[in-house]
Amino acid sequence: MSQSRPDYDLVIAGGGMIGASLAVALSPLGLRIAVVEAVARGAVEQPSFDERSTALSRSTQRSFEAMGLWSKVKAASTPIRQVHVSDKGRFGFAHIDAEEQNVEALGYVCINRVLGDVLASALDAADNVTLYCPARITAASSSATLSTVSLTHADGSEEQLTTGLLVAADGARSSIREMLGVAVSVSDYRQKAIIGNLLTELPNQGVAYERFTETGPIAMLPVNNGRTAFVWIAETAAADRLLALDDTDFQDALLSAFGTRLGAFSRIGKRAAYPLFLTRAARLTAQRAVLVGNAAHGLHPVAAQGFNLGMRDVAALCDCIADALGPGGDGDLGAPAVLARYAAWRKSDQARLVGLTDGLVRLFGSEQAGVRTLRNVGMLAFDVVPGVRRRFAEYAMGLKGRLPRLSRGIALR
Ligand SMILES: Cc1cc2nc3c(=O)[nH]c(=O)nc-3n(C[C@H](O)[C@H](O)[C@H](O)COP(=O)(O)OP(=O)(O)OC[C@H]3O[C@@H](n4cnc5c(N)ncnc54)[C@H](O)[C@@H]3O)c2cc1C
Repeated sequence: MSQSRPDYDLVIAGGGMIGASLAVALSPLGLRIAVVEAVARGAVEQPSFDERSTALSRSTQRSFEAMGLWSKVKAASTPIRQVHVSDKGRFGFAHIDAEEQNVEALGYVCINRVLGDVLASALDAADNVTLYCPARITAASSSATLSTVSLTHADGSEEQLTTGLLVAADGARSSIREMLGVAVSVSDYRQKAIIGNLLTELPNQGVAYERFTETGPIAMLPVNNGRTAFVWIAETAAADRLLALDDTDFQDALLSAFGTRLGAFSRIGKRAAYPLFLTRAARLTAQRAVLVGNAAHGLHPVAAQGFNLGMRDVAALCDCIADALGPGGDGDLGAPAVLARYAAWRKSDQARLVGLTDGLVRLFGSEQAGVRTLRNVGMLAFDVVPGVRRRFAEYAMGLKGRLPRLSRGIALR
């Protein structure tokens, strides 16, 4: 490290779901951390803590446990007791049961905005974390010993910060990734996810449904106060037609696509839409910098895994940093060996999840007869063969592979 001490040990670019979680997770290590977030908390345009609902996997639950946040997150979440996957108009469905997996719940559904409130109060309580918000990082550069970022505050004033390690947590369209010279591959699914919530005539009883229809997959997730959150994925033109419908017509269209498992729908809330892409950074590190969360990989939401995968990036990075500060390390968080360890650790989990979600999109998006047969047989095999189901459940819960401390529920300190 250089003789001059940087302003911060760590600067996190982006204080969304992943950046804020990383800062909270690292705060017990006593590092001097800055989080730079472009959009004010509570602003309608906040892109991370919005009205979407996120299904939290078991490994994410364990990370929040290790961070001391789980009781608050759990109180604001709804447990998933069963996952039910079906293909409209076809034979075969799959289900995964919490009891069968010997767990209290397969996951929990939390509204992003509510998760944001929990993370925000934890950030406020951490006196070694400085939040620059609203402030946007507009430039980043690095030398062998330091990263430097320029940020622009809401009033137009500018400031420079130096750090030993810059973390890009600024989402799928990461500008930091570009500033670091990391290439990205983007494939446009030409689909949109329409989200919202509604009341169902029958109680959802903790079942998360995923139904593959001719328009695209529909997920119905149990959320607090008896409402059900929906995610309806459709080709862009079809999604735009659905978005143009009034509430009653949209509700009817959703009911006719999803079916009557939950009875009639009523009191639909505000809808929002997200264009869907697969984005993959060519590298997870640059000089004195790492990429985490959607900045590293933006997934299709079909398997509800993007945030959970990002939380495993957070957990692995926390382990690498804690070890660099420990007895065997030299305290240099941004040293090439630390970054290489993080990149090597995350490579296979990320590749597997990208393959799984991209494969699902293609498998269920195809109407070719051969593929249709394959997916029906696949879903049957999936439901009938316990070993297959268990392995899938382990992936969905995020419990596959070598797990870092946080993903095992172990506090960093
Ligand atoms: C419809 C839908 C449903 C989903 N459901 C699930 C689910 O059930 N389970 C799951 O695991 N995942 C789910 N996901 C994925 C999940 O939402 C994302 O993986 C997660 O939001 C990624 O968080 P992030 O912090 O990496 O990025 P983001 O949420 O994009 O946050 C990035 C943050 O960086 C800030 N920022 C950007 N540029 C700058 C800059 N230059 N300077 C400072 N700040 C900046 C932004 O304002 C933002 O707050 C879903 C996604 C969609 C679209």
